[in-house]
Amino acid sequence: MFPDWAEQLRAREQQGLRRFRQVVESPQASHITINGHDYLAFSSNDYLGLANHPDLIKSVEEGARHYGVGAGASHLIHGHSAAHHILEESLAQFAGFPKALLFSTGYMANIGVVTALVGREDAIFADKLNHASLNDAALLSRAKFIRFPHLDLTALEQRLADSNARRKLVISDAVFSMEGDIAPVKQLTALCEKYHALLLLDDAHGFGVLGRQGRGSLFVADSDVVHSPSVVYMATLGKAAGVFGAFVAAQADVIETLIQSARSYIYTTATPPLLSHALLTSLKLIEQEEWRREALLQNIAQLKNDLLSSCWKLLPSSTPIQPLLIGESHEAVRVSQALHERGILVPAIRPPTVPQGKARLRISLSAAHQPNDILRLTQALNELAPHS
Ligand SMILES: *Cc1c(COP(=O)(O)O)cnc(C)c1O
Repeated sequence: MFPDWAEQLRAREQQGLRRFRQVVESPQASHITINGHDYLAFSSNDYLGLANHPDLIKSVEEGARHYGVGAGASHLIHGHSAAHHILEESLAQFAGFPKALLFSTGYMANIGVVTALVGREDAIFADKLNHASLNDAALLSRAKFIRFPHLDLTALEQRLADSNARRKLVISDAVFSMEGDIAPVKQLTALCEKYHALLLLDDAHGFGVLGRQGRGSLFVADSDVVHSPSVVYMATLGKAAGVFGAFVAAQADVIETLIQSARSYIYTTATPPLLSHALLTSLKLIEQEEWRREALLQNIAQLKNDLLSSCWKLLPSSTPIQPLLIGESHEAVRVSQALHERGILVPAIRPPTVPQGKARLRISLSAAHQPNDILRLTQALNELAPHS
């Protein structure tokens, strides 16, 4: 019998869990066009406002003239261009590691790293709120998959101490994608060193945003010292960097191992070299334009301040991910739709992306937002407050 997809889809709809795609007709920016209407958007990961930057567009044109469009082959079969190679060297230096390796996406990077580094006789220790790609990677690796409560390092240490696995890999988001909170990178690294474990740190939301010159979560305050050989650093290039792709930075042996055996690196076409060429420009803007991070911080402060006296409660977060906890999926959808009617886009995040009863609006801020944009959002939220 053919499975009854229709019934499953109806059930999903009744639970308020059906997702819809909207067709965006403009470039990604703080204001986007859908169905000919202009919307103020708090829904992208373009934290620095680079996705539509004229210098990046120019670099893409230049890259296309120089390298053509398609890479034409995988990295190991003559698809690895000078543009990819130069970018890898720049990323390694920027992130503070001996070597770096480009992947097509962050999803593929996580799959590749985890499956290349651990297998059946090994154990993975993962924060419960890690990104889906890390969980999928763990399952695919066939290693023992041990999850610990969110940010609970005492529980993690217990599990590490109890394990007699051949290799131990601790996996954590550096900035949690649905909470916006930050992992204690320094303490995590120290724990990993103590128990001879490797730490895979997913900095998809920290790279470009956090740390000195946007170098990411390893460069926050006094944690400059955490470039331990135990750390494998991963970041995406489609979020703050405004382009597409991802990279892994680590010790030379780790990177060489990935080149030899990360299947999501080997068995896929290299990304268009013009993207790597554009990313060199992006990296320069990230490094040099401190004002973007300052504007972002100001927007975060303004949002928090404007909502202080309202009945809405933001989760504790100092990053551009500012989740507004609502609870029930239907209610999250109601508020999101009411904002939509007012020309403001804030996605409702529902199970299974977050636990049952923890539906939320995920407000993503960008350096491209103006103070007036934030004001418009908080005023609309105040009008929609359930108890007013
Ligand atoms: C977005 C994201 C990824 C996936 O990166 P893509 O390049 O979009 O595939 C991985 N990890 C985290 C934490 C993310 O937020």
